Amino acid sequence: MPPSGTGPQVVYLIGHPVGHSLSPAMQNAAFLACGLAHRYEPRDVDPADLEAAVGSLRADGVLGANVTVPHKERILGLLDAVAGDALRIGAVNTIVREGTELLGENTDRGGFEAALRDARVDVAGKRVLVLGAGGAARAIVIALAASGARVAVANRTPDRARRLAEAFGVGAVAWPDESALAVDVVVNATSAGLYGEDPLAGMALPAGTAVVDIVPTAAETPLARRAREAGNTVVDGLLMLLHQAAASFRLWTGQDAPLEAMRAALPRVV
Ligand code: NDP
Repeated sequence: MPPSGTGPQVVYLIGHPVGHSLSPAMQNAAFLACGLAHRYEPRDVDPADLEAAVGSLRADGVLGANVTVPHKERILGLLDAVAGDALRIGAVNTIVREGTELLGENTDRGGFEAALRDARVDVAGKRVLVLGAGGAARAIVIALAASGARVAVANRTPDRARRLAEAFGVGAVAWPDESALAVDVVVNATSAGLYGEDPLAGMALPAGTAVVDIVPTAAETPLARRAREAGNTVVDGLLMLLHQAAASFRLWTGQDAPLEAMRAALPRVV
């Protein structure tokens, strides 16, 4: 749906914290490239203030919002409607205002699929190990299962991996040891890497295993760096960030995103 209202509007990024986010640079570059006077502003919202913050999005002058940790799941109950993918994933990362109504969407699945296409990684029929069982992992498992991959999920808290696997009809395995990494693709969908952690610390990566690390950081994550240095195929978290942002831009503006302008606003070439 095209946006409500005309003239310059604001898109908020609602999270806690939001200071480290790379989205404002990308989205503001996109507005500029399209000649739109909209602006994208991070807004740190404490969980106690989430309801009031959502209420304020209904005002004229607001085009929509992005939602990030820790609000992506709780916000579902505060919106007027939630799109099918976001309902299945159980998380909203994009809000579009239509009049005074707020529609919740999730662009993580599409962003992940587009990042794989962009990096020319084909997962059909391949063995894929997904690390993590949060909102991002759910979006990714849905995407992988729809692409015909043979998916297994592992999580630090194994019960969550089992529940996710049951919900989406994929396998659940124990947190991997080195031998379990001998698959076609490993996806890091945990938050380990955001502050320099390596979820597979101490484990060598088999030569043929492609690594998708969705953690989007200004500097390469330790996992992505050592995989790249060892010669493995690597899909960087910034690539998924770019494509999920492009999908959000399309939802707010009704226009195709200026992908290269957004890519150029990222801190590294991906
Ligand atoms: P959640 O908080 O919902 O889930 C976090 C997951 O990470 C849980 O499975 C948790 O395990 C696991 N985890 C946290 N710390 C560790 C650790 N030290 N070792 C192993 N596992 C750990 O987060 P999301 O699913 O929303 O996001 C996950 C990551 O994906 C974040 O870094 C986020 O920035 C990134 N992301 C990137 C996107 C992109 O476009 N590139 C889009 C969306 C998300 P447990 O259950 O045991 O707590």
